[in-house]
Amino acid sequence: MSSSPTQIDTYTLCQRKWAWTALAGLRGIQNESAALGSAVHKVIEVFFRSGMPIDMTTDVGEIAMSGYHLWPSRERVITSGGVEDRFSIYLGGVQVNGVKDLRWVDDDGVPNIVDHKTTKDFRYAKTETYLQTEDIQAAIYAKHEMLIRKVKQVRGHWWYMRTTRPHKSHPVSVILSEDQIDPTIEKCTQIVTTQALLRRQGAKPLDLPPSPQACEAFGGCAFRANCNLTDAQKVRAIMTQASNVQAMLSQVANRVNPPAATPTTTEAPPTDRVPPDGWGWCRDPKGAWQMAPLDGSWAPPPNQGWGPIIDPKAPPSPPQPPPAPPQPPAEAPVPPPSAPQPPATADTASPPQPPEAPKRRGRPPKAAQASGQGATETKEDLDDEIAEKAAELVLLFLRALRG
Ligand code: SF4
Repeated sequence: MSSSPTQIDTYTLCQRKWAWTALAGLRGIQNESAALGSAVHKVIEVFFRSGMPIDMTTDVGEIAMSGYHLWPSRERVITSGGVEDRFSIYLGGVQVNGVKDLRWVDDDGVPNIVDHKTTKDFRYAKTETYLQTEDIQAAIYAKHEMLIRKVKQVRGHWWYMRTTRPHKSHPVSVILSEDQIDPTIEKCTQIVTTQALLRRQGAKPLDLPPSPQACEAFGGCAFRANCNLTDAQKVRAIMTQASNVQAMLSQVANRVNPPAATPTTTEAPPTDRVPPDGWGWCRDPKGAWQMAPLDGSWAPPPNQGWGPIIDPKAPPSPPQPPPAPPQPPAEAPVPPPSAPQPPATADTASPPQPPEAPKRRGRPPKAAQASGQGATETKEDLDDEIAEKAAELVLLFLRALRG
C-alpha cells in the first residue's frame, strides 16, 4: 500500500476521483498537454544523463531549451545529485513515492530540487508562498531531501516552460524550511493514513463523497461517466460542503500573485552577463534584471513596477537632490478625463528577447532565480472566476428545481 504526491493532490481535489484510480484500478486518458509535458521531461533527462544535445528543430526541444539558462551544470548534477531520481518516504507508516526531476548541492551545502513544469499560461504557475506553505509535492520532495541530507533547508525550483509560442520560461524558486513545510507534511500524513484505511476496508469509489466543483477542472474529469451525477446530486454535494464557497474564494485569492511593487533597490545591474550591443538592463516587477533594447523599440510598462532601462556603457549619473515636498494646491484641481489604457498582456509587459542572449551554464544568480515574466492574475480575472462560479451554482439550482 503506497501513495504519492499526485494521489494526495487528487484526493484533496475529489476523494472519489482518487478512488476511481487507486481503489478501482481505472486509468484516466493522458491528454495532449500531459503527453507534451512527458516528452519535454524526457529530452531534459536524456541531456543530463548522456550530454546528448537537445534537438532545437522540434517543438519539444524548443520548449525544453526555453529554460536552459536556469539549468545547473551536468557535472554538478551528476556528482552531487541526480536526474529523475525515484524516492520513497514514510508518512504515518505509509510509503509515499515520488520522482525528483533534478537535484544537486550548492557550494554552500544547501541541496536543490527542481520540478520542470509545462504550461500553456504562466498565470497557472504556483506562487512562492503557495510552494512554501501549501504545496504537497514541494513539501514531500523537500522533506525527503532534508532527511537524507540531514539539513533543515532546501532550495526548491519550480521551472515553468510555456508550451504556447513564444516559448519562454518562468522560474519560481524558494527556500523551503522545515518549519514551513511541516504543517503540510502533517496534512499529507492524515490523508495517506486515511487512504490506507479505505483500502483495507475495501471501500468502493461510490462510497466516497463526490466533489462536483472538480468535475470540469483541468479539462474535465475522465470519470464523469462513471459518477454520472445528476444536477440535484451536484447541488446537494455543493450545499453540504458548507465552506465550499469560502474555500474556493481563498483558493483563488491564494493564486493571485501579489501586486507588483516599484523596485526601490539601488543594486547595480549584473556584471557576470554582458548584454549584446544596443541592449541594456531593466529591473522587472520582481526585482530581477532583464535585458532590454536601448533603441526605444520597447519601453517598460508604466505603473507595473518596472524600473528604467539602464545603458551599461553610459557614464554614472550624478547624485540627484532629494525631491521637494509637495505643495498644497491653491484650489481643488479638477482632474482632466484620462484616456482608457489598453490592458497590458504578459508579452507586452516583458521586454523582447535580445538577438543572442548570452547563455549561462551553472546555477543562475539569485536575482535571475526570482525573476518571472508570467502574467499576474488580476482583480478582474478573480471577479470573472467568481462570477462564473456563481452563475454555475444558479444554473444548477434552476435545473434541480425543474427536475
Ligand atoms: S466526475 Fe466529478 S465527482 Fe466524479 S470523480 Fe470526477 S471530479 Fe469527482
